[in-house]
Amino acid sequence: KSFKELGLIDSLCEACDNMGYKQPTPIQSETIPLALQGRDIIGLAETGSGKTAAFTLPLLSFLMEKPQPFFGLILAPTRELAYQISLACESLGSTINVRSVTLVGGMDMVPQSIALGKKPHIIVATPGRLLDHLENTKGFSLRNLKYLVMDEADRLLDMDFGPILDKILKVLPRERRTFLFSATLSSKVESLQRASLSNPARVSI
Ligand code: AMP
Repeated sequence: KSFKELGLIDSLCEACDNMGYKQPTPIQSETIPLALQGRDIIGLAETGSGKTAAFTLPLLSFLMEKPQPFFGLILAPTRELAYQISLACESLGSTINVRSVTLVGGMDMVPQSIALGKKPHIIVATPGRLLDHLENTKGFSLRNLKYLVMDEADRLLDMDFGPILDKILKVLPRERRTFLFSATLSSKVESLQRASLSNPARVSI
């Protein structure tokens, strides 16, 4: 099946074409239609499978229907992965003027706070720095968030981000969609899933 046959709007199919994506990878073929139906998703997929586009394309599709500030939050375990995801968001969102910000540790808070003040659509973040901004950046809140992604959840939990994730989840609205991607399904991932997803569809490759 083509990206269009999975239900994606033309401008996003065009973005895939511009990226040189000729056809969806298996994880994308499974995830995208379920996500577009509005399901929460737990995806078991490794890096290299095309998982980033599998969660980014539906997020962008929903964003297009009703663009608003702080629409989506993508959490990743490392700075490097956060930057990679941001790059993917910007490339895949280039045809629809998406604005995103990357919030990672080890960088000055101030430019990040200024970027948040411009009310981007999507935040890509490592958990510690996101919590820092939630607690310290004036006027920043995620109470209107519509879409949460936790990428590499097993690594997030192995790196002991669990307590920080719990704090973040507490300030997010319940009325949202959630995607959790992980390479493995440990008992910690299972309990994070129970705490954050509602009636999820399970996809794996
Ligand atoms: P990921 O698993 O998300 O880290 O993606 C691995 C690599 O595959 C990245 O370089 C993507 O740009 C690329 N990619 C993602 N989807 C496709 C696709 N449908 N066709 C070809 N390459 C893809």
